[in-house]
Amino acid sequence: MKKLRLILGDQLNYNHSWFEKVDDNNIYVIMEIKPELEYTKHHIQKVIAFFLAMRSFSDYMTEKGHKFIHFKINDENNKHNLYQNILVLINENKIDSFEYQLPDEYRLDIELKEICGRLNIHTSSIDSEHFLSTREELGTFFKDKKTFTMEYFYRYMRKKYNVLVDGDKPLNGKWNFDTDNRKAFKEEVKVPEIIKFKKDVEDLYKTIQNLKIETIGNIDTKNFIWGVTRKDALESLDYFLEKNLRYFGTYQDAMHTKYQDLFHSRISFYLNTKILHPFEVIESTISFYNENKNLIDYAQVEGFVRQIIGWREFMRGVYWAKMPEFSKMNYFNNKEKLPNWFWTGKTKMSCLKNAVSQSLDNAYAHHIQRLMITGNFALLLGVNPDEVDQWYLGIYIDAIEWVEITNTRGMSQFADGGIIATKPYVSSAAYINKMSNYCKGCYYDKAKRIGDNACPFNSLYWDFFDRNRDKLERNPRIGIAYANLNKMSKQDLEEIRKQAKNYKLNSDKL
Ligand code: FAD
Ligand code: SF4
Repeated sequence: MKKLRLILGDQLNYNHSWFEKVDDNNIYVIMEIKPELEYTKHHIQKVIAFFLAMRSFSDYMTEKGHKFIHFKINDENNKHNLYQNILVLINENKIDSFEYQLPDEYRLDIELKEICGRLNIHTSSIDSEHFLSTREELGTFFKDKKTFTMEYFYRYMRKKYNVLVDGDKPLNGKWNFDTDNRKAFKEEVKVPEIIKFKKDVEDLYKTIQNLKIETIGNIDTKNFIWGVTRKDALESLDYFLEKNLRYFGTYQDAMHTKYQDLFHSRISFYLNTKILHPFEVIESTISFYNENKNLIDYAQVEGFVRQIIGWREFMRGVYWAKMPEFSKMNYFNNKEKLPNWFWTGKTKMSCLKNAVSQSLDNAYAHHIQRLMITGNFALLLGVNPDEVDQWYLGIYIDAIEWVEITNTRGMSQFADGGIIATKPYVSSAAYINKMSNYCKGCYYDKAKRIGDNACPFNSLYWDFFDRNRDKLERNPRIGIAYANLNKMSKQDLEEIRKQAKNYKLNSDKL
């Protein structure tokens, strides 16, 4: 029986059971197709990283003896359509059965089911063997609950996989060591260089340019820094464990103009393309810790493991429990547009200039830059979450809808009304100044709420709580904000409203 097996661009799982045995009756197909580059404008580095990672994967599997067909973006016989390419291969190769791995995006799930319905041969799907929970597991875990609390799911996952537990109890007495982490950065701490693979990607870049594919962001084609092979991914993980894990949790929320990535791992691309398996990341982390307890304290390890087995699995579970409604949610009915400088970095606000420029240059920003700088500002300004989603989906190398939309629309924009976060992640300049050096030398004055060069975060912050009073005032987690707002004189509040209105009207010029 001849089988055609489809591999999507984010299904580069080198250890998938499909590849356990070489069988000439199995033909694998992987496709670089234009529609995947057109549903949003992607960062050029993201496009290049995906294509190169796909190519390395099919080269590796071909070397192992598997029959691989790779439609490259400029192949003449590439029809740039999943169904059309599959149909041609089925006819050319007299295929009896079509198989695919369950995709992680809702739109592809629908599309593949439709394709199967149109094919007149046997079809079937199989798990991608990547995640640590099933699509439905979180939905079942939180059945009938309005809010999904990550912490409970995380504890359940720790017990399920026997990770950092002693029987049913957490190791070292607590499930969560967050209070030991999340400190402001200390200048005397030495920050390692980021790992750079320095590949020459000029040829592929030219191909993409010649095809007139629209992209965003910048690239150094002679020194492309991202890894694209399994070897690169493992090297990145080892590099992180060796150099960064020791301060990962401590400075997880810190931001600095000179050290953009601080101690973050930069492995999300390898995880999301499935080149790395989450469990191998957790196992390597724990064994590295066990061998280096003199260097690394437990809080760092717990903090990192929580991101992988907790947040990552949690977001995926929310996605499958709440799609497709999730993609339309707009709790605050926000309608503003994203300021133009989100595509250029040309703003006088130092924090945003740094976070946006860095994203354009590297297709990467760490979690707090995404949440508390760009996301925070978009929410305070009242930007339509559709626009915010499009920006995040395009700009980051790791952006795939299941993890982008839950983080953006849910965690960052609170457009889900509190399914993911118990309160909106917003702040004034005080938090940004505490956690970064951005405010030093900024055109705006972090201490001013009103006036010419008053920091926009300050008036927009109070205006946000003021204008969303009906939706937020009863939330016990934001009682302090409302207590302070209620203490404000009428005149002060009027001035803040005026200042915020002016900033909103002129957001492109900030
Ligand atoms: P580290 O800080 O080193 O963390 C290690 C790993 O933990 C990450 O690689 C990631 O796989 C996982 N992780 C950490 N936080 C989260 C989280 N909140 N959700 C899911 N996984 C998490 N992550 C993406 O992978 N793709 C996205 O498109 C994406 N969009 C985001 C948009 C917004 C507005 C926000 C606030 C966060 C977003 N995140 C996204 C989550 C997080 O910011 C990134 O996973 C992280 O910055 C990737 O960098 P890193 O590998 O250095 O992560
Ligand atoms: Fe950002 Fe305001 Fe600080 Fe400037 S003063 S860096 S705009 S928080």
